[in-house]
Amino acid sequence: MALLVHQFPCLNDNYGYLIHDTDTGATATIDTPEVAPINAALKDKGWALTHILNTHHHFDHAGGNEALKEQWGCTVVGAANDAERIPGIDVRVHDGEEFQLGNSVAKVFEVPGHTTGHIAYYFAADGAAFVGDTLFALGCGRLFEGTPDQMWNSLQKLMALPDDTVVYCAHEYTQANAAFALSVEPQNQALQDRAAQIDQLRAEGKPTVPTTIGLERATNPFVRPQSEDLQATIGLVGADPVAVFAETRKRKDHF
Ligand code: ZN
Ligand code: FE
Repeated sequence: MALLVHQFPCLNDNYGYLIHDTDTGATATIDTPEVAPINAALKDKGWALTHILNTHHHFDHAGGNEALKEQWGCTVVGAANDAERIPGIDVRVHDGEEFQLGNSVAKVFEVPGHTTGHIAYYFAADGAAFVGDTLFALGCGRLFEGTPDQMWNSLQKLMALPDDTVVYCAHEYTQANAAFALSVEPQNQALQDRAAQIDQLRAEGKPTVPTTIGLERATNPFVRPQSEDLQATIGLVGADPVAVFAETRKRKDHF
């Protein structure tokens, strides 16, 4: 049994993901950023769409729900507590519940912050997490609806996953995120090394996503409030993690 992941670009800087349960042929798109590339990817792989797994309601994540549901008759899965904003929702999931795509099992995490109803899907047996706009490579989502405290708790849920968990983020924002990360944690050698690798990948037109929990733990300032370098740079030496996170997020908004 296996879960295959196929990644492809959508819109300006989104990533589309098809996931395919090899036992049963069940196939889901993680969000619906753009219909044409999703259909092209399905054709390319020879897979038939059975599910849409939404992370949140934003147009670049759920904008293709209705067209794809009409075309494929697929089942739309989304957050129970945001059901009114998920077009065509059929299955409403809550924090801690499991959703089964064929024989592949995803645990649902409610991760409010970017939006109040944002969720993530964690396939433990496959070591894969689909995190939408909550955690990015070297970044995190903007706090459009939630508080810093909520987002911090949400990020902690994801950071509790094993280091080798592969993290599939919804956007290619990494190079800009790296510039900010270096500005607030200039002494971090692992970050400096990673930033150089990112520049190289982007120069070659290659994606910097997915990432891993372990890599983010070592280099992403939004999950590193314990860093003395970060604390000193933003003037919050010894402050509590939420305060450091909140100030870091605020600075990124104006970077
Ligand atoms: Zn979003
Ligand atoms: Fe987005």
